[in-house]
Amino acid sequence: MLTEAGPRSFDAVIIGAGHNGLVAAAYLARAGLKVLVLERREMVGGAAVTEEILPGFKFSRAAYVLSLFRAEIIRELRLADHGFSVIPRNPSSFTPLLDGRFLLLGPDPGLNHREITKFSPRDAEAFPQYEATLDRITRFVEPVLDMAPPDLAATGWKERAETIGDLARLVWRAVKLGRDLLPLLEMCVAPASRILDRWFESEPLKSTLATDAIIGAMASPSTPGSGYVLLHHAMGQTDGVRGVWGYVRGGMGSLAQAIAGAARAHGATILTGRPVAKILTEADGATGVILEDGTTIRARVVLSSADPKVTFLNLLPAESLPGKFRDRISSMDFSSGVTKINVALDRLPSFRAHPGHAPGPQHYGTIHLVSAMEEIEVAYRDALAGRPSTRPVIEMTLPSSLDPTLAPPGKHVMSLFVQYTPYTLAQGTWDDPGIKDAFADRVFRVIEEFAPGFTASVLARDILSPLDLERIFGLTGGNIFHGAMGFDQLFWLRPAPGWSRYRTPIANLYLCGAGAHPGGGIIGAAGRNSALAVLADLRRFISPRHLRHSRVA
Ligand SMILES: Cc1cc2nc3c(=O)[nH]c(=O)nc-3n(C[C@H](O)[C@H](O)[C@H](O)COP(=O)(O)OP(=O)(O)OC[C@H]3O[C@@H](n4cnc5c(N)ncnc54)[C@H](O)[C@@H]3O)c2cc1C
Repeated sequence: MLTEAGPRSFDAVIIGAGHNGLVAAAYLARAGLKVLVLERREMVGGAAVTEEILPGFKFSRAAYVLSLFRAEIIRELRLADHGFSVIPRNPSSFTPLLDGRFLLLGPDPGLNHREITKFSPRDAEAFPQYEATLDRITRFVEPVLDMAPPDLAATGWKERAETIGDLARLVWRAVKLGRDLLPLLEMCVAPASRILDRWFESEPLKSTLATDAIIGAMASPSTPGSGYVLLHHAMGQTDGVRGVWGYVRGGMGSLAQAIAGAARAHGATILTGRPVAKILTEADGATGVILEDGTTIRARVVLSSADPKVTFLNLLPAESLPGKFRDRISSMDFSSGVTKINVALDRLPSFRAHPGHAPGPQHYGTIHLVSAMEEIEVAYRDALAGRPSTRPVIEMTLPSSLDPTLAPPGKHVMSLFVQYTPYTLAQGTWDDPGIKDAFADRVFRVIEEFAPGFTASVLARDILSPLDLERIFGLTGGNIFHGAMGFDQLFWLRPAPGWSRYRTPIANLYLCGAGAHPGGGIIGAAGRNSALAVLADLRRFISPRHLRHSRVA
């Protein structure tokens, strides 16, 4: 415990107990280091939390579905032993239409064929080929998530040899990808709409798939580069089934609790309610942190899972960083258009297109209340003009339909991930009285069109504007990914050219959160990869016998 009389010196201090900070802590502690995690909030998890906002109603208050989290982390940290489990969703999506039709999609190819045929027999034939192509491409990209991008700026002969080896492996795998290399290159730079238009003709199918290309992004499907966001969200798996998203049993916070449990089991100390005010630097690099209460903690290395703007612009004095690097971080794109609304419900909604309040296939997956690509474009254009969308794009989930631990018997919790709400409004701010309620009322009116009686079933609501996401979760600009996921801010360029391998211009300071490769989402790879980078660097100073498990299978 860090008490007045307790230790003030550690091998590694980690700023922030988001899932990445916790993963890094678990790997470093498992390797035998003395690790301290400092979190500003009163709970661990960052954007991966379960909060009981109304007694008996447990919300995944920010992130709500899981797929990208790396399977090897679950295995290596034995997260199942610490209470982690995922509930798969089948069907995984439901798109009701106002004309009474609906589209269900999921892991069952037979269901997909029947459902898509209702809109376009041609699309029903094309869909398995589309999924197979995405599958082959994601199998190529996925391993890249688990490695630091090759160091193109390497100068030493050993580092250069390592870079050449890494690049050769990538090129060899790209060659093996064969004819799928071209669709991959196209996905990295093209608008998602162009890719989807090439494959499909039916608007409900295209708009359902397009939501993966805009989620969390201040972009529309016609924005160049949105194809990569689509790919990014197709990369995960649930229980070994690729591309399927699941609910964490007990809410997203159960994942963070499980990682924290693993970290503690290996000896890490995790303290909440301890905001870090400053990263200490001396001539030889980072040497510790100073808390807001004035406590100084020394450490051999410092890892930050706060986003790059918080880490480099708020926690470090300007003169400690090279001007060019600082400018690059200052100009990173953190635009965002997300509002999250968590709702406690008296009963499940009954959809006009698929009636019934009893839990059914229409409730299990992600419910998309948008049925044409143009609706997304119009909503986006509002936001570009500084206005919350007149008709927002709504992604609804009802996790209590599959996980009864989340709400009292018969009651339910609902997550609404809503776009687009610009952080900076053309008129007023998100703090103006009534503005958030007026927006939530607008969202509820749209839901009411699809599910009459919905508003009457609402017991309470928690509206998180981009400004709230920034204040509560520490996400600059409300950006859910610690910086936009455009190709100009990924791989070698995340967070800045030359610094994509978790190390920073300050010796002994590492970035371990979503602002580092491979970016946003609950993936855990930045936490794991950064811990491996730290262990590789420390191996020079600590005897290998001291470092247990410093190589991961
Ligand atoms: C509303 C919302 C919905 C999302 N939905 C999904 C989803 O369904 N699925 C998905 O995969 N991803 C989703 N995401 C994205 C995903 O949750 C994030 O990209 C990811 O959780 C980032 O993890 P992290 O550990 O890198 O950082 P964070 O979770 O942001 O953790 C960083 C931690 O650092 C702490 N911190 C910051 N500054 C300090 C300081 N000075 N001192 C001490 N502590 C500090 C913060 O309080 C925070 O706990 C969502 C995000 C949001 C906000």
